[in-house]
Amino acid sequence: MRVKIKATGIVQGVGFRPFIYRIAVKNGLNGYVRNRGDAGVEILLEGEKENIECFLKDLREKKPPLAQIYEIITSPIKGKNKYENFKIYKSSEKGELSGSIIPPDIAICDECLKELRDPKDPRYNYFFITCTNCGPRYTIIDRLPYDRKNTTMKDFSLCSFCNSEYVNPLNRRFHAQTVACSKCGPKAYLATSKGELVACKSPIREAGRLLSEGLIVAIKGYGGFHVATATTKDEPLIRLREVKHRRQKPFAIMAPSLEVVRSFAKLSLKEAKLLASYTRPIVLLHKNENYYLSNLIAPDLHNIGVMLPYTGLHYMLFDEIDEPAFVMTSANPPNQPIIKEDDEALKKLGDTVDYVLFHNRKIAHRCDDSVVRVHRKHQVFLRRSRGYAPAPIMLKEKVRRCAVGLGGELNNTTCVLLENKAFISQHIGDVENIETRDFLENATKHLTHLTNSKVEAVACDLHPKFTTTKLAHDLAKKNDWQLIQVQHHYAHIAALMAEHGAKEIIGICCDGYGYGVDGEAWGGEILLCTQETSGFKRLAHLQKQPLIGGDIATRYPLRVAAGILHKQLNIENWLLQNQKHFPYGEKEIQIILHQLEKENNTFKTTSCGRVLDAVAAILGVCYERTYEGEPAMKLESIAIKGKNVLKLEPKIKGNILDTTQMLLEVFENRQKNSKADLAYSAHTYLAKGLAKLAIEKTLENDVKTLGFSGGAACNEILALTIQKTVEASGFKFLVHETNPPGDGGLSLGQAFVAGFYIL
Ligand SMILES: [Zn+2]
Ligand SMILES: [Zn+2]
Repeated sequence: MRVKIKATGIVQGVGFRPFIYRIAVKNGLNGYVRNRGDAGVEILLEGEKENIECFLKDLREKKPPLAQIYEIITSPIKGKNKYENFKIYKSSEKGELSGSIIPPDIAICDECLKELRDPKDPRYNYFFITCTNCGPRYTIIDRLPYDRKNTTMKDFSLCSFCNSEYVNPLNRRFHAQTVACSKCGPKAYLATSKGELVACKSPIREAGRLLSEGLIVAIKGYGGFHVATATTKDEPLIRLREVKHRRQKPFAIMAPSLEVVRSFAKLSLKEAKLLASYTRPIVLLHKNENYYLSNLIAPDLHNIGVMLPYTGLHYMLFDEIDEPAFVMTSANPPNQPIIKEDDEALKKLGDTVDYVLFHNRKIAHRCDDSVVRVHRKHQVFLRRSRGYAPAPIMLKEKVRRCAVGLGGELNNTTCVLLENKAFISQHIGDVENIETRDFLENATKHLTHLTNSKVEAVACDLHPKFTTTKLAHDLAKKNDWQLIQVQHHYAHIAALMAEHGAKEIIGICCDGYGYGVDGEAWGGEILLCTQETSGFKRLAHLQKQPLIGGDIATRYPLRVAAGILHKQLNIENWLLQNQKHFPYGEKEIQIILHQLEKENNTFKTTSCGRVLDAVAAILGVCYERTYEGEPAMKLESIAIKGKNVLKLEPKIKGNILDTTQMLLEVFENRQKNSKADLAYSAHTYLAKGLAKLAIEKTLENDVKTLGFSGGAACNEILALTIQKTVEASGFKFLVHETNPPGDGGLSLGQAFVAGFYIL
């Protein structure tokens, strides 16, 4: 019997052909296997029927750990047997199938780590040791099929030792495209910030030593540069914050082992598993009572972002020093993508860093680290990037046509949605300028090309002025795609529906800002979304509150508090007591009071984020937002230690949850109760109120399922309180599991709407 098999999925770059070779030989079959230009694999088999059946069983049951098979297409072919053995053939450039993809970058595996540390191993101390089960993939692949010549490894010819492993079917590095050693592979070198080489025996360990002494070193990794420094000293952190213009925003850190992590942070089983998984994300962990690292790493926050090393290079940084961890933050100039080119690193980081640790392999595609946190046992993505992208999120059902979602404005991603596979890009960042716009456009093009997708529609936000909206218009016109604009909070809930295959849902969506269908600022919404209608209904929302001065109130949350309290109280004295927190002091306060009186220059918002901001300002937790989400994050950090002392009953008028009364109570009790208790009470009020309102709407509309999405769904207190309240009422409750609740998850929701509803 002769058959041809085509497999789609993640089947290139995961040791799939060596695996096929082994099971073909084991089952006594002849023929070949080869990679294809569409990221799939083609197999030809000749042999007895039962042997082929055994082969197919092995194929399904014993596939390599990182491989994902989406489809196996088997077709018998005519003609006589012509192969005398089984071989791995040269790849074919051809591609006709859609929906396969290359794997994400994979952290160094245990076997490679052991070899790195074994003085008898030929790759002892080789910083880029990898095998078929580990190493970079997405960030080194220029084009398909996944052959060495199509990756940035093409600059490094295999030495005879590496080649002997590469061609040996019994070796773990059989056909591993990233195989290399200190003789033939990429080299590391240390340079000053001016680019002058520093002579030293081991550049990596020397960099580790410099870091532990408190110097700032840029480090080239798989998907871009990090800026690193010590974690136990304040001085380098003060300097780093000054030069990066990052006054408060937390830095992620890297620690060499779980044991070290446990010395400064609490670690649940689930968190430990995530930290050590091959995706190696940054995990937000609670600082423990013995926390001894600098408070300047994550100022005023109860948690800290930690990751474990994911390359040999990272492990070696810790070899000869005592420092427990290093700051490891993405190297990017403000509002620009992570740096990936060597000359760009010197040009743009020269004033920030003291040294740069380079290696001489090019980065084909940049990729930031992923960030997750755990709510009890449940993982929540703050950023889905390295280790995950571009592997798809598998949906429960197929969409009707292939669509692209370009996301919103901040923390953006792009999504190509093909049938039931959502291919979501790495983190793109805030798309506000030409650099990030180009990055977004190229990432979209690259994903479409890799998956061989024929796009029919492009979706974007409803906001008329977003850069992504303009890009969507351009792409629609250029490619003759249908353009669909999707309201921000609808897109969040649609992403939740996509992830769970929900047909009908009452969605609670809370965040900072989204452009509403009425042109106003939304952000605390209860929406009814069904698959029968091509849209959504806004059933309820938080009370509209004034934003004095618009955007400036987002930066200075005392303005939000003033706007809300003003209706009920004379707040002039209180504002004057706080005048040092207004950039223009008393003069500014008088203007604000005048504007409130006349309702001038005042915008309305239903944002949940702004209400939390106002609480943070009243409690003196945060007066100025220097990074996205800062007041609300710091408020959560305080609240986590508190109790519900106010015990307020949600005040619901019709379809609106009142937020004024709660804020008044917080204000009046601010001398009486602790900040922690008041902060916790405010969280509980919002969570219970939103849940109660949503349950009412669920009953009215005869829906069975509720869900929670939006940036505020990353808030542990809100998320868990809403969940508890909803589940106590007997309804099904959905939260995101594989896609971020924040704006990084918008692109999926948009693409889902555009892919499902052919308007
Ligand atoms: Zn390995
Ligand atoms: Zn070699």
